[in-house]
Amino acid sequence: MAGVAAYGAFLNNKVVASPDAYLVDVVNPATGEVFARLAESAAEQVDEAVRSARHALEEGAWGRMAAYERGRLLARFGTLILDNADELAAIEARDTGKPNGQAMADIRATARYFEFYAGAADKLHGETIPYHEGFFVATEREPHGVVAHIIPWNYPAQMFGRNVAPSLAVGNAAVVKPAEDGCLSVLRMAELAVEAGFPEGALSVLPGRGSVTGQLLSNHSDIDYIAFTGSPGVGEQIQIAAARRAIGCTLELGGKSPHLLFGDADLSVAVPAIVNGIVQNAGQTCSAGSRVLVEHAHFERLVGALADAFAKLQAGTPEMNLDTGPVINARQRDRVEAFCAQADSDNLTLIAEGSIAEDAPKDGFFVRPRLYGPVDPNNIIAREEVFGPVLVVIPFEDEADALRLANDSEFGLLAGVWTKDGGRSMRLARKIKAGQVYINGFAAGGGIELPFGGVKRSGHGREKGFAAMHELSTSKTIIHRHG
Ligand code: NAD
Repeated sequence: MAGVAAYGAFLNNKVVASPDAYLVDVVNPATGEVFARLAESAAEQVDEAVRSARHALEEGAWGRMAAYERGRLLARFGTLILDNADELAAIEARDTGKPNGQAMADIRATARYFEFYAGAADKLHGETIPYHEGFFVATEREPHGVVAHIIPWNYPAQMFGRNVAPSLAVGNAAVVKPAEDGCLSVLRMAELAVEAGFPEGALSVLPGRGSVTGQLLSNHSDIDYIAFTGSPGVGEQIQIAAARRAIGCTLELGGKSPHLLFGDADLSVAVPAIVNGIVQNAGQTCSAGSRVLVEHAHFERLVGALADAFAKLQAGTPEMNLDTGPVINARQRDRVEAFCAQADSDNLTLIAEGSIAEDAPKDGFFVRPRLYGPVDPNNIIAREEVFGPVLVVIPFEDEADALRLANDSEFGLLAGVWTKDGGRSMRLARKIKAGQVYINGFAAGGGIELPFGGVKRSGHGREKGFAAMHELSTSKTIIHRHG
């Protein structure tokens, strides 16, 4: 297609594309236009990426490199991401439709991952263990080896940083399969990794469809670990692929994260955080706060404040830099609209809705932010991950009822507790089934230093902070009988 850029796999520190590759269209979500094509990575490229990763670990410079030297490379990589932030943010905004400000915040957060793990690379250590007389016992942390990182499209750059920075810090060779809908910033960052000095095979990127490239990679016979971020359905397949070969995996899956909003909450903080927690990235955030449980006795006042904020929300193009952009593609838009159509046919009350900017392109994949309630907790819109800017309000009677409703979900990723009662917030934080609980604050996906991950159908394993380095490495016990 004339005037459309073509991209391929990043292998052995070069971008390569097989001439007979299947081409995936890359569509600008704000306009609906195809602006690039991706050469899908087939078996040959997947094999080559894994072979090159294995070689880097076992015979190349990467496997021999001291931890502090890996840290130095990560630091340089982080600096290069910041130096090229304008270009990367422009790529991210065009590829995903995010408002420009959000795209820039994402790139800065991506650089932070590399900064954090640059300093952490040489601080992962084992322990010595008292044992019988005549023995010295120590544990060491070792990289898993070749790690397949399969990541989604909602925050391509951040998901790359969140996965790859700790993986490289502990000395794995990372083979990344980005999503077909958001992969161009990842390919550009891979080029920056070469500039930073990473040797061949330490990092490869394999664009392509999940059903082709993703399946080939996750079922490859020579990978040692899979770190997967994506939908629960595909997560199940990944767990099965890992189980077949008895290798480990991390699953970072979906969520239906609740806010527990009590009458004594400080609404000047709670309302903007709750609203942002669902409209940020057009609601396409695994940790979006998509259910707000509201104390019944204060329903009118609390929901009135949320409704006022919702009615002002606007969706537009990246350049308009409004509250939110479009969703990622036509399929996702239709999925969100189908949930809302079902809510309408279930006679749910639409409490408030935002708007789409008048001059937003008609072929963009925009959806209006919507606030529904009171919603029966068993209604489909209160149970399933919509992955759009749709918030449901569910009333509760007392603390015990709020806790019951919060935990009445197959997911368990995040929760937000809003109350000035310190005893109540700590009781709830301890009993809510989620990987992260915020008290009087909420940052969907925020906090590079903070362990993050789910329970129940939100997955298992922890990313971010030092926890990610433990997850992405294994322990070896060395028992020395010295007599
Ligand atoms: P998805 O599961 O469709 O795709 C995720 C990745 O897996 C993509 O790279 C895709 O190409 C690949 N893939 C798809 N099918 C595959 C297969 N059969 N084998 C191997 N790989 C395959 O998810 P999505 O629609 O891209 O992302 C949205 C989902 O991701 C939501 O459910 C969201 O909650 C979740 N998510 C979770 C987190 C988290 O940290 N918990 C973060 C972001 C997104």
